[in-house]
This record gives sequence, structure tokens and C-alpha cells, in this order.
Amino acid sequence: MEIKEMYAALGVSAEVYEHGEKVLADLTERFREVDRIAEINQCKVLHAMQENRVNATHFAATTGYGYNDDGRDTLEKVYADCFHTEAALVRPQITCGTHALAVALSANLLPGDEILAASGRPYDTLEEVIGIRPSPCSLAEYGVTYREVALLEGGQFDYEGIRAAIGEKTKLVHIQRSKGYQTRPTLSVKAIGELISFVKSIKPDLICMVDNCYGEFVETIEPSDVGADMIVGSLIKNPGGGLAPIGGYICGTKACVERCGYRLSAPGLGQEVGANLGLMTSLFQGFFLAPTVTASALKGAIFAANLYERLGFPVIPNGSESRHDIIQAVTLGSREALCAFCKGIQQAAPVDSYVTPEPWAMPGYDSEVIMAAGAFIQGSSIELSADGPCREPYAVYFQGGLTWQHAKLGILLSLQKLVDAGIVTLS
Ligand SMILES: *Cc1c(COP(=O)(O)O)cnc(C)c1O
Repeated sequence: MEIKEMYAALGVSAEVYEHGEKVLADLTERFREVDRIAEINQCKVLHAMQENRVNATHFAATTGYGYNDDGRDTLEKVYADCFHTEAALVRPQITCGTHALAVALSANLLPGDEILAASGRPYDTLEEVIGIRPSPCSLAEYGVTYREVALLEGGQFDYEGIRAAIGEKTKLVHIQRSKGYQTRPTLSVKAIGELISFVKSIKPDLICMVDNCYGEFVETIEPSDVGADMIVGSLIKNPGGGLAPIGGYICGTKACVERCGYRLSAPGLGQEVGANLGLMTSLFQGFFLAPTVTASALKGAIFAANLYERLGFPVIPNGSESRHDIIQAVTLGSREALCAFCKGIQQAAPVDSYVTPEPWAMPGYDSEVIMAAGAFIQGSSIELSADGPCREPYAVYFQGGLTWQHAKLGILLSLQKLVDAGIVTLS
């Protein structure tokens, strides 16, 4: 069968397919650069695995307390070496990215301390962790206060605002690399490094914590290479490589990470307990695959940006700018367009391709959200998925793709749905 017929069988018309090919023809150089970054990161991961002498005994399951769990301890050393940190906490007991961030914050803040969010309002679910939206067990309830300094109009840090906001009580600076559900530019590791140097020049003992969700392996360096005391993320995003079924990580200084271990399990126990429950193969192998899986997702994001930009939709990042995370925002402008886009992504999935996504109220979010995902791991956003809050400006946040070819199909089908709904006309 010809490729066009195969796409037709999957629901992509010849017109949409050819439109995609025209866009792709100009992306050869961009894709080459993505592959170059993946190659460097693959070397980094392999080196960390080899230095730590990863072997088959590390894949053995442990249960109960998990004392002397060599696989778990070795995985943590691999993460620490790869991200150039003194220590790492990488556990299936960390249930998601929000949990990892909650552990990192609550372990390192005491009553009377203040958090300073230097990249503006944090990711939606953190509002309850911090207590920006009142919530039981929030940091606010424990007497931790919060301040934020919004990014400037162009997305840069507001250095003067940040200087003015650092006070006696300021203990931890929160920096979010990815845009999350905002239409702002994502921060480069270089820009994050400059901010860290700046805040440490004002108050050297500040803890700089970077929410690294969606950013891992997109560049050849991580925020831990430019002075972050902790980088924090989810294993069902980039570093899990699509294979990790659960988990989160915190990599950073020994002092910070040790406290996180005590907060996650119990004071006195720390990192010494926590059985791996047979997940080690997935966590190691997922980390091994993560650089190339991230590259596939990036190619999808770059393709989507260029395709939708040419059709006149505002896209962030734009078609030509450099990438610092795997998220692509496309401002669709209406509820109908948002729903149509998500239907296309859903239809492309290997799992649950036959269901229709609908907007729904979600815990942790303050407006209805529509989500399209047909993933092997529930909620995995390194797998091809699209979601967006049903509010102005109706931006869809598109991410993932374990393979570039799957991401491509998803994007073509999203366009097909917009064409079918009469929202887009291809010339
Ligand atoms: C996904 C994400 C989180 C939260 O991770 P979950 O695994 O969904 O809890 C936090 N911050 C950012 C920037 C994210 O993208």
C-alpha cells in the first residue's frame, strides 16, 4: 500500500497529508539539531549507567521495607550523575510531579519561611500545594508564606522586582522552566542560570528549586548544571521514557535531597526504606530511552508549530524559535476548535482511539479541562496527548509522542478535524 492510502485508512485525507508534507520539507535542519541534542544526551545517560556498573541484579524486585535495595540506590546514583548533582531521590512512591514538588517544598521550608516564585504564578496544581488557593495541608497552613513576581511582558525575569521581593524570610526561590498552562515563553536553561546567579548574589543561602517538568533532555544541559539546588520532575513525562509506570525525581544537593527523603518516608528513615516493587527495569530502561523519546516529542512540537503557524494560529513557541520544553501551545480561539483538535489527537492513539474527549471539571484545576490521550500509562504526558482549559484564549497544549511518526499522525488528524468542522480551509 502507498503511504497516502495508509494515512487515508487512518482518517487523513490526501489534502491534509500533502499540506503536512509541504510543512515538513522545510524542517530538515531543525530535525537534525534535535537529533544532535538527543545524541549528546544519550551519551550522557549511557555514561552514567556505565560508571555506576548497572547490571541485571539491579532489576530485581524488592518488597516490604526495601532495605539495601541496590537497584533503587543505583538508579538514584545514575540520575545524580547524569544531572551532575550530589544526590537524587527517584522513587515509585513519588506519585506524580505535583507530589515531587510538594515533597521538595515541604521538606525544605519551615514555619516563617517564604517562597518566592520568580517565574510568576506556578503550575495550577501547585496553587493548592502552596496555599495560593486555600487547601487543607497546604504550606500556607503550616505558616509558610508566598510571594510571586510575574515575568515581564516579553517573558523575561523581572530582575528588579525579584530583588525587591527578596527579604529576611525568603528561603526558597521557585523557578518553573516550562510554561505549563500559560501562554508565555518557556525559559532556557541559560536564562535560569543567570537568574540563579543573580538571586544568590543577593542572598547566597537561598535554595533555588526548578520545576523541571517537560524540560529534561530538551537541551544538552539541565538547570542543575547552572546552579539549581534542586531540579524536580515526573517520571511519566520525559525522564521515564514512556516506560516508567509511575514516579518522580528530585535531584540536587545532598542537604536538600536528604530532607526530601525524610519528608517522603519519615524522619529518621529517609531514603533507606521504599521497596521498588519490581519497577526497576522500566525505570532504568525508560531513562535509557528518554533522550530519543524526548526528541520524537520535540519533532512533533516543531511540526505542529510550523503547521499551525502557517494557518494563521498564534503558536508558542513559534515555528522557528529554539525549544526549552516539549510543550506546544496553539491558540485555537474557540471551544469548538479546541474540542476538534483534541478529537484528532484522540483518534490517532494506539489505545482508546474510539472514544471522544469532552470538557470536564478536574481536581486541581479551576476551570473545565479537555484532555485527549490514548496512553499505555494512564495520564502519561510523554505519550501523545493534548489538553487545555476551556477558557479564553482556548489554547491547546500539545505534547509528547513516544515516536515521531505517531506524533505526526496525531497532528495531521487534529488538522483533519479542524478542516472537517469548517474551521480551517486549506488553500
Ligand atoms: C505536569 C507538570 C507538573 C505536575 O506534574 P503532575 O505529574 O501532573 O502532577 C508541575 N509542573 C509543571 C510545569 C508541569 O508541566
